[in-house]
Amino acid sequence: MIFMNLKKRLNDIYKETNINKVKNIMQQCDECSKGVLKKQKVDYMLLGHNLGTFDALVCSVCTETIFEGDTFGLIEQRAKEKGLWGISAKTRIGTSGNALDVKIPKQVVSFLRLKKGQEVLIEPVDEKRFQVQII
Ligand SMILES: [Zn+2]
Repeated sequence: MIFMNLKKRLNDIYKETNINKVKNIMQQCDECSKGVLKKQKVDYMLLGHNLGTFDALVCSVCTETIFEGDTFGLIEQRAKEKGLWGISAKTRIGTSGNALDVKIPKQVVSFLRLKKGQEVLIEPVDEKRFQVQII
């Protein structure tokens, strides 16, 4: 009888330990594997607009921020309401005389309120990206 109780107790301890292991794995940061993820309220910024404050898991070391599935759905909905969703689009480099040009998609023109003849500065960011800054 004593043996049975001991076995049951060991079994319970084993279960508790496993539950704690699962909790620890879920709370450890995948990005830096040093920090612990903690629930916080975080402002979500998109294209310079604050979409609101949402629940997120934030790493205590590297500040990696994770929005979970339901929350991300809410963020997407807010972005759509504010016309900030899906603004990027694929385009191609074309030619204009001896120069190359890039057609700017309509939604980007609209978001940035670009006008023909407006002055811009083009500069490389790295070997895969360049930016066009309105001046
Ligand atoms: Zn981290």
